[in-house]
Amino acid sequence: MSECIFCKIIAGEIPSQKLYEDNDVLAFWDISPQAPVHFLVIPKKHIAMPVDIEEDDDLLAGKMLRIGAKVARENGVADDYRVIFNNGSKSGQVVFHLHMHILGGKGKPWPM
Ligand code: AMP
Ligand code: ZN
Repeated sequence: MSECIFCKIIAGEIPSQKLYEDNDVLAFWDISPQAPVHFLVIPKKHIAMPVDIEEDDDLLAGKMLRIGAKVARENGVADDYRVIFNNGSKSGQVVFHLHMHILGGKGKPWPM
């Protein structure tokens, strides 16, 4: 996956502002924040998009949610964030390495 920007971030070939890292996942600030707190949680395993998640990835997908909550808590938005996975370019997915957006701190509900 040498052309995948998020694989390059995982490999340290492109810099990122890391928030959390372990053997399975990485969390880092989104470079173009759409909320007061906007970070991404990605698996270190290259999975292109949500529809490519397989049964073997069940634990990994759950861990992404748990780490998202942990980092949200650490950044003061434990009770004010939403979770978005874009799936496919028609939905707005631009980077084809699975990523979970955490958008927090808006202080009021989103349109949907
Ligand atoms: P999506 O539209 O769901 O594919 O979202 C991709 C997200 O990745 C966007 O919110 C971008 O701002 C973010 N992004 C792209 N490149 C980087 C980068 N080098 N570091 C951090 N975030 C990035
Ligand atoms: Zn990748």
